[in-house]
Amino acid sequence: MAQQRMEADICIVGGGGAGVAAAIEAGAAGAKIALIEQFDALGGTAIISGGGCLIVGTPLQKSQGIHDTPDLAFEDWVKWGQGTADEQWARYYIDHSLHDLYFWAERLGVKWIDMKFQEGNRVHRWHRPDNNGLGLMTVLINALKSGGTARILTGAAAKDILTQNGRVCGIRATSAKNGETTEIRSQTVIVTSGGFNSNLDMVLEHRPEFKAFKVMEGSGRGANGSGHKLIAELGGYFTHMDHIWFYVYATPDYRDPQGRRGLVFRLTPGYIWFNQQGRRFHDESRTGGASATPALLKQNPPHAWAILDTPMTAKMEVADPYYRDGDKVRRDKVQELLDNSPYIRKANSLSELAQKIHVDAPAFLSELEQYNQAFDAGLEREPAFGKSLKQSKKFDTPPYYAIQLFPLARKNFGGVKTDLRCRVLNKYFDPIPGLYAAGEVAGMAGGHINGRAGLEGTMLGPSIFSGRVAGGWAAHEAGFGPGFIGKPNRP
Ligand SMILES: Cc1cc2nc3c(=O)[nH]c(=O)nc-3n(C[C@H](O)[C@H](O)[C@H](O)COP(=O)(O)OP(=O)(O)OC[C@H]3O[C@@H](n4cnc5c(N)ncnc54)[C@H](O)[C@@H]3O)c2cc1C
Repeated sequence: MAQQRMEADICIVGGGGAGVAAAIEAGAAGAKIALIEQFDALGGTAIISGGGCLIVGTPLQKSQGIHDTPDLAFEDWVKWGQGTADEQWARYYIDHSLHDLYFWAERLGVKWIDMKFQEGNRVHRWHRPDNNGLGLMTVLINALKSGGTARILTGAAAKDILTQNGRVCGIRATSAKNGETTEIRSQTVIVTSGGFNSNLDMVLEHRPEFKAFKVMEGSGRGANGSGHKLIAELGGYFTHMDHIWFYVYATPDYRDPQGRRGLVFRLTPGYIWFNQQGRRFHDESRTGGASATPALLKQNPPHAWAILDTPMTAKMEVADPYYRDGDKVRRDKVQELLDNSPYIRKANSLSELAQKIHVDAPAFLSELEQYNQAFDAGLEREPAFGKSLKQSKKFDTPPYYAIQLFPLARKNFGGVKTDLRCRVLNKYFDPIPGLYAAGEVAGMAGGHINGRAGLEGTMLGPSIFSGRVAGGWAAHEAGFGPGFIGKPNRP
């Protein structure tokens, strides 16, 4: 028996990128929203993210002389997805990204400030907002709050989706603080609960081959798959669940009491990686999930050691709130990690380091010597793997560090299947009446918009966009507004 009862037109489960966008959209259509977030603050993984979104044909691209079109982006997208992207959703997102993400966010107050190249794209199209995910989400959350149409319940996790006469009719949530339950009746429910990569059991269920090795949890802390379970109980059809985007430049978070989480430190200029046999195996400047990940997973065992000398550690950035102060890196905390993690070894010479990490010392030292010789010879690229030496240096300044890397589950490219209105489909691909899903619980949008690999910026962008789509159509079904129409980018 619920202790509190509420009514709303739409219940939204999860206040991250997709949930906040859905609430803004449905609120603009005139619907009354109840937004349920298990943690004390809105934001989800989106607020700790890099904030980068793949967007096509923008003024920022034009200002840098980049000619990009939906056709070009679609070709790159489908090719990169290795044949398993949902092409209808990919095309829908790409066509709408200019007007319904870039300009929409800009009107709310987001500033798109620069772009970065990402593997698989023929042009720069990964757009970064001011202050990354924090900046983007702060603007969206403020816009939602100032709209005044949403009742926001934080610190309450949805535990059940309610049904009546074969229709979804609300949710039941439980407070984390006092266990009190609240029943919220609504016309429609949108699940925007994010992915499951902070639930190692679910990761291993869908990728059982990793049971024999160490893999780490690596999404936002709320990405625990609880929304997947709610949808599964109602017969939602899940697809491409083994498409988990792993990163391999991550080391265990020794501060995690459960020993499951990883810390990501991508592209530290200069570092090189060795397998347990003491051999390099990859051009370390290519860190993408479709390049570095398969390279590391082929090693036996599938882990590696990132080797750094002391000046390189000064450029190391750890993508975790504990190691950052907004945009700035907390050097003291990075040093604390280097000094205290049992997964990091330190030595005054490279041969001592080889002993401490138990690799074949002659192989390790000879590869390092060859690498160093490339600098003496003034080469632009080192000969073994063709890594550019532009931002790198010789290994010559002790102490030297070896940081153990293991695969880390970062993003879910599979999830619940939806139609283009974000209605959740059952195994016969019929909509489950009243139930919608958007964002990472739906593999970022539709079930598998990326396919096996993503061009980057293809998680947050589609999550926010599909949130808007779900908000528009869930409001329409509840009797508000025309549904999500948007504006495609056409010549
Ligand atoms: C460190 C990091 C950096 C990233 N950088 C980028 C990037 O630059 N570009 C990019 O495209 N992608 C990036 N991503 C991925 C991207 O952030 C996510 O894919 C995106 O945020 C998913 O949005 P979402 O709304 O579906 O989920 P989230 O943003 O995770 O929000 C889900 C919310 O639901 C809540 N929730 C879950 N279950 C319940 C429940 N039962 N009841 C109530 N609340 C619940 C969670 O607490 C959370 O707040 C990054 C991911 C990480 C981890």
